[in-house]
Parts: sequence; structure tokens; C-alpha cells
Amino acid sequence: MTYFEGKVVIVTGASTGIGRATAELFAQRGAKVAITGRNAESLEITRQLCEKAAGGNAEKVHVIIADVTKEEDTKRIIAETVNKFGQLDVLVNNAGAATKPGLQDSHYSRPLEVFDYVMNLNARSLIALDQEAIPHLKKTKGNIVNVSSVAGFKAFPHGAYYCMAKAANDQLNRILAIDLAKEGIRVNNINPGPVRTEFASAMGMSDAAKDWMEENYVKPNCPLGRSGTSEEMATVIAFLANNDEARFVTGQMLVADGGFSISSPPLPTQAS
Ligand code: NDP
Repeated sequence: MTYFEGKVVIVTGASTGIGRATAELFAQRGAKVAITGRNAESLEITRQLCEKAAGGNAEKVHVIIADVTKEEDTKRIIAETVNKFGQLDVLVNNAGAATKPGLQDSHYSRPLEVFDYVMNLNARSLIALDQEAIPHLKKTKGNIVNVSSVAGFKAFPHGAYYCMAKAANDQLNRILAIDLAKEGIRVNNINPGPVRTEFASAMGMSDAAKDWMEENYVKPNCPLGRSGTSEEMATVIAFLANNDEARFVTGQMLVADGGFSISSPPLPTQAS
């Protein structure tokens, strides 16, 4: 029996990428999973993967079509999960993106509308979900894992809105960890480096452009020489969410980036 047997886990942004792999891993480890996102077709694929991972038990997977930037939807995500499964043990705040759909960044002239959306999606929505979830997490002594980014502490050119939003996510994590410690609730972040998902597609990047980025940006700048995988992020999230293994870990930003954020450009060869 694994730690997650009988536990109830919500994964936002479970329709693709890191969220999908995370939901599948929790299901495989015995949890009942509520999976959320806006895209019903993609969520159906995740639902099938989770059902299979749960040994074919469809009752252990619940789909909630929801947009986390809308408060009525964040309320519904928590209420529906507790109605369906009777409790809440883990909230994984994973939904995120670097821009607003249909409004691509144009460097310094990007509209403030994009700022509002990116802040809402990557920071404000976490507060909305946390507020609804905390009364239930108090009962189970559960925990929260947020998917932040190395963008929370590194500056990426032209990435002000996303970097600011993830920095807010990191600060929220630290403060909430202190505020909720007395309730027995832990709060932690995972800060991934580059991971090959639909994240870059949402910014309009083609598969060919992703290949080029991997070869010319990630490989030379990441000590482990490659992007991470969604599955590698999922195992870190599951570690943070495990009240046995990570019981003394709270308020942390666990960087999972193959060394990307600690590397520096090579020293120039000195002319003799
Ligand atoms: P994906 O684009 O593959 O997944 C993003 C998920 O978020 C999708 O399931 C999407 O579902 C959901 N989502 C986006 N907007 C909304 C919304 N308004 N309401 C509800 N759900 C939404 O990318 P990743 O898996 O890579 O991203 C997951 C997290 O990881 C994000 O927080 C991202 O910032 C972070 N991250 C990613 C990195 C990377 O290189 N990939 C690096 C560092 C951090 P749907 O479209 O169905 O709504």
C-alpha cells in the first residue's frame, strides 16, 4: 500500500504536460484524482490514462472542466471534488502559461491585458483555490504543492509578466507555509526548468522551433544537457505531497532543472 492510497488529490492544468503526468502518477499510487482544465478533449485523454493507472477503476477519477482565472470555477473545483470524494488531501496548483491565448507577447509593447491575465492565472488563481481548499485541508492535515518555475527567481528577457507572476507564486508559498504550519498544513513549490510540454505551443512555438531551442539554448545551458520531462516533474511533486517522506519540508522551492539555473556561460579562454 502506498502513502496515497485513499487520499484525494486535485491537479489543476491536468489536460496536458506536467499536470497530466502528475495526475497519472497519483492515480498509479492509489489516490483518487480530480483533474481540471478547460479543454474537454485533452482532459478525456488524461482521464483514460488515470483510469488505467488506477487499475481500471473509473470511480477514482473525476473530471472538472474549469477555467482557474474565474472565481466561480475555482470554487466549483474544490466543492465538486469534496462532494465526489468526501475529503481533500492534496491540492496541486499546476495550471499556468506565459501569455494570454490569442494575445502573443510583442516584447516591450505587450498589452497590460496580458499582465492581468498572466498574474491571474499564475498567482491570483492560487489564492482563490487555496482559500476554498484550506478548510478541507485542515481536516485532513493535507498539503499544497504549487508548480512555479525557475522564472520565479531568474530574469528572462522579455518575460517580465511571467517572471513576476512566478515570483509572486514563490512568495505566496513562503508566507502560506508559515501561516498554515500551525494547522498542520505544509505548502511547497516545485520550480521546473525547461520541460518539453504544450507550454511553448501556447506561446505559438512550432515543434521545429522547440527542437531548435532544445539544441541551441537548452543543451548548451543545462549541465544535464536536456530539457526535463513531465514524468520527472511528477515524481518531485509526489515527493513534496507525501506527508511521510516530506513531512519536515515546508515553504520550499524545490528546483528541478538539470542544473539550468546554476550554470554560467563558459569562461573565455585567456589570450596569452
Ligand atoms: P502545458 O501547456 O502542457 O500545460 C498547462 C496546463 O494548464 C494545461 O493543462 C492547461 O489546460 C492549463 N491551463 C492553462 N490556462 C488555464 C486556465 N485559464 N484555466 C485552467 N487551466 C488552464 O504546460 P506545462 O505542463 O509545462 O505547464 C504546467 C506548469 O508548469 C505551468 O504552471 C507552467 O508555468 C510550469 N512550468 C513549465 C515549464 C516548461 O518548460 N514547460 C517550466 C517551468 C514551469 P487547458 O488548456 O485545458 O485549460
